[in-house]
Amino acid sequence: MILKGLAWHYKEYSKDQDLAQAEIDARAKKAGLWHDWKPMGPWDWRALQKRNATAKKAAESKTVMPLSSSASKEKPGAMFWLSTSSNKRHNRSCRYFGETKRGRYCTGDVGSACGICGG
Ligand SMILES: [Zn+2]
Repeated sequence: MILKGLAWHYKEYSKDQDLAQAEIDARAKKAGLWHDWKPMGPWDWRALQKRNATAKKAAESKTVMPLSSSASKEKPGAMFWLSTSSNKRHNRSCRYFGETKRGRYCTGDVGSACGICGG
């Protein structure tokens, strides 16, 4: 089975059947460099390099990934939502938090407290 697999690979990469067969025979006998070396064909090596490059690229893109849009809009300490049309301040538990047509994130000392959530 192994020899058949190898023969198939060598047919793909070499037209020289005699050379291919010689290598297969040598490997079968564990002769020369085949003895201690764990064989890795060039196709395996290339696949491995490609995998490593892809993994490296993924790791790099993770480090430069921008903050999500909601995180960048929301400043630290701005725990309230100010409805700029009514000047009402809503806390995070309020259904109007972030939901009014006109508004922005704000701190607790801006506007007047919402009658429902207490601001
Ligand atoms: Zn409210």
